[in-house]
Amino acid sequence: HSFQDVDLGEIIMGNICLSRYTRPTPVQKHAIPIVKSKRDLMACAQTGSGKTAAFLLPILSQIYSQGPGEALNATKDNVKLGCRKQFPISLVLAPTRELALQIYDEARKFSYRSRVRPCVVYGGADIGQQIRDLDRGCHLLVATPGRLVDMMERGKLGLDYCGYLVLDEADRMLDMGFEPQIRRIVEQDTMPPKGIRQTMMFSATFPKEIQILARDFLEDYIFLAV
Ligand code: AMP
Repeated sequence: HSFQDVDLGEIIMGNICLSRYTRPTPVQKHAIPIVKSKRDLMACAQTGSGKTAAFLLPILSQIYSQGPGEALNATKDNVKLGCRKQFPISLVLAPTRELALQIYDEARKFSYRSRVRPCVVYGGADIGQQIRDLDRGCHLLVATPGRLVDMMERGKLGLDYCGYLVLDEADRMLDMGFEPQIRRIVEQDTMPPKGIRQTMMFSATFPKEIQILARDFLEDYIFLAV
């Protein structure tokens, strides 16, 4: 099996080459076609399985294939108009600053030479600097839940155009007590509802609480265990 089995587009294929990934890991092999087919996904996968690229590659590929669409331009227009509120097309929630930064690094690698601009926000760091970074435009946002709620309350972020939502290490986010913040983010009025947005959940385990979250956030999802 190779990354060529699925059409990810030229930019992505070039960036996969640059990152020297030669062949997809099992979770990538199975998840990439599912996400490309626009289905919601509940994937049980461990850290180190390659799950980050399993969601980033097909999401970025779908964003690129939409072409120079309104969503990509919206950000620039907002900056021009001095609106200073960002509307990411894609949101990835992660439990910790370390994981958020790792996802962001991968997103930067795979969005190289594209018009997609990734950003990362997390707690315990200067919010002013993160706001200034967001002000430069943000299409794909990686965030820890608490800091994201803070950004929303400050009017810096709108999720109205969030067509892709990922909950990474969902079990760890619940263990850390982030369920209220996650629900606040996902269940707010402006977030596109399930069935309209595409939602992917990744978790190492699949206990009752994760099953409930999957029932509430996912629409007609495919279950994948690797
Ligand atoms: P993850 O599980 O997403 O945190 O990935 C674990 C590590 O494997 C990271 O350092 C990735 O850069 C690396 N990795 C992910 N997919 C591949 C692949 N297909 N080939 C080689 N390395 C990979």
